[in-house]
Formats: sequence, C-alpha cells, structure tokens
Amino acid sequence: MHNCAEGFDAGFDNEFVVFLKYARRSASEIQSEIYLALDRNYVDKTVFKQIHDKATETKKIIYALIAYLRRSKPPKSLLDYTTTRLNDQETIMLSYHELRSTFEALNLADKPVIGHAAFRRFGDVEGGAPTVLHALLDSSSGLIMPTFTYNTMVTPEVGPPNNGITYGSDRDNNKRAEPFQITMPPDKMIGILPWILLQQESSIRTAHPILSFGGFGMDSALATQTLYEPLAPIGALAEQNGWIVLINVDHSVNTSIHYAEKLAGRRQFVRWALVGDRVVECPGYPGDSSGFQAIEEYIKPDTSRVEIGDAFIEALPLKRLFDAVQEIIKKDPLALLCERLDCERCNAIKSF
Ligand SMILES: [Zn+2]
Repeated sequence: MHNCAEGFDAGFDNEFVVFLKYARRSASEIQSEIYLALDRNYVDKTVFKQIHDKATETKKIIYALIAYLRRSKPPKSLLDYTTTRLNDQETIMLSYHELRSTFEALNLADKPVIGHAAFRRFGDVEGGAPTVLHALLDSSSGLIMPTFTYNTMVTPEVGPPNNGITYGSDRDNNKRAEPFQITMPPDKMIGILPWILLQQESSIRTAHPILSFGGFGMDSALATQTLYEPLAPIGALAEQNGWIVLINVDHSVNTSIHYAEKLAGRRQFVRWALVGDRVVECPGYPGDSSGFQAIEEYIKPDTSRVEIGDAFIEALPLKRLFDAVQEIIKKDPLALLCERLDCERCNAIKSF
C-alpha cells in the first residue's frame, strides 16, 4: 500500500508503474514468508490459505492496474489478469507462484502430460527456465518431453523407395553426425526445458538414438518405447488420461499429432542413426509437422488456454486430439500436410 501511495504521488504513469511493481514484489515476498511460516508450524493450513489467497488477489489487482496504465484503457475485469496482454516493452518478473497458479487454472493436477515449450516468450522469470519446469512438474501428475537428437542421423547412399529422402544427398552432414549417447543434449530446436528436465534427479530418458523422450514420474509410459514403436510412450500416456501442454508454441511442434497420423494409417518412414560405431535402422519415423497448425480449428472446443503477460499455455486431452486427427485424415487423406513443393516427406505421402 505504501508503495502504491508513493507511486501515485509521483504524478507520472511510468513512475507509478515502477512503484506498483515494488508493491507486487512485496506481495510475492509475503507469499514466500507464509510458506516458511507454514513449514515451521507457526500457522496452520487455513491461515496459510487465507493469507496466500489474499496476496494472490492483491497481485492480480496490481497487475491489472499496471496493464491499465500501460494501455490507458481498462482490461475487461480488474481481476482477469491471465487474459491481460501487456505491451511489448513491458517486462515483469514472473515468479514460481504466478506460473503455478497459471498452470493450476488448466486443472492438470491429476493428469500426466506431454509438454512442448519455448521459454523465451516468458521474458523475465525469477530463477529462469528451471522455475517454469518446476511449476509444470508441480502442477501435473507426471511429465514427458521429447529429447530428440537429430545430430545422430545419417543418410545412406541407397535405401527403400518412397521414403521421403534423397539418398546420398547429405554426405557433409554424415561426416558431422555423432553417435547417440544418453547424456547428449536434446536438439536446440526443442528448447531448453527438456534439457533441464533431464538434469532433474529421478528423471529418466529413453535410449532411442533419434527420438528419445525424457520423463519424470512416467517410467511405465516411457518403457513402452521400442526401435519399431518410437512414439509408443504417447499412446501409453493417452491410456492414462494424459494431456498435451503447449507452452508458447503451436501445433507445428505437437509430436502427439504424429502418433495420431500413424493411428490413421498414414505412411511412416525409415531413418538411420549412429550408435557406437554402427549405423542403426530406425523404422516408424514420422512425417513432416510443418502443416500441423491446421488442426487448431478442429480441437479448439477441447483446448483450454491461459495467458500470462505475453506468454500463453494451451492444454488438451490426447485422446480428443487422436480422434480429431483420425477424423480429418479419413475425410481428406492429404490433411495436415504442408504446402511446400520441395517437402520430401509430405510429397511421399501425397504420391502414394
Ligand atoms: Zn511438409
């Protein structure tokens, strides 16, 4: 309150915002203190909840007021901060608790999830990317993430026909390829969160030389992966009422659509990877995903979405996605393929 009064006296909106941010941080401070108090049995759970909720509500109001000052027009509701978008110059340090309550709005507590994430769009997060991962882990009953390694792949001189590949075309890449190791980082395209997941104690990683998955609390689902069924963990997750969580990314990285394509009978490919000093054939390799965003309109009614600052999180049940993908491929065998004329895997499916 003192910070707000001091800021209001400043007379300029920009300065007012600076003081409001202090006030917001103070409310976060109260929340972390009350956690400590609960840990040490100074307060019981009821008192803890009252104070924690009050601080959360205060933060929402301050957040909405900051947004209001930035845009000079009021948000729909002062409490509706998750759908309040701040302008691009706005940087607000997100805390674990804010991320946690954002994830909680998606009701994933009793569900295992497969996550795909781009961290950078969150802007400043207290504690960085690990904070986002922990908020997700603490808001769901288990997590798997793709930890794919494309730098293990090699292209042979010859191979099976209609395989969406130009044999003998990648000789330079072949020279740079590295044998798969369980300790190697996931491909950069996959983002930082899967790499942080793999650093967690008691997380595990499957040993597929290209399409490995990392997981926490999901050992039985991960154990279903074989060289022939690389995406089997996604099917196992669906059997456990699993959901997909897309954090700042769209469906073009939604690996679960590949699993559904296979269910729909769509052609799969063969690829090759280095393991030790051998080249291993990897069947069941999926097609191209760059046309996947077209699924959005079909699964919108089943998708929950929350926004926090410029960031967004979407969640939907795997089984619903599987149904939708199979339905639209049945209607149109070319659905979800990309438009690129030189896309070898999409062309292989179109010409088959
Ligand atoms: Zn394509």
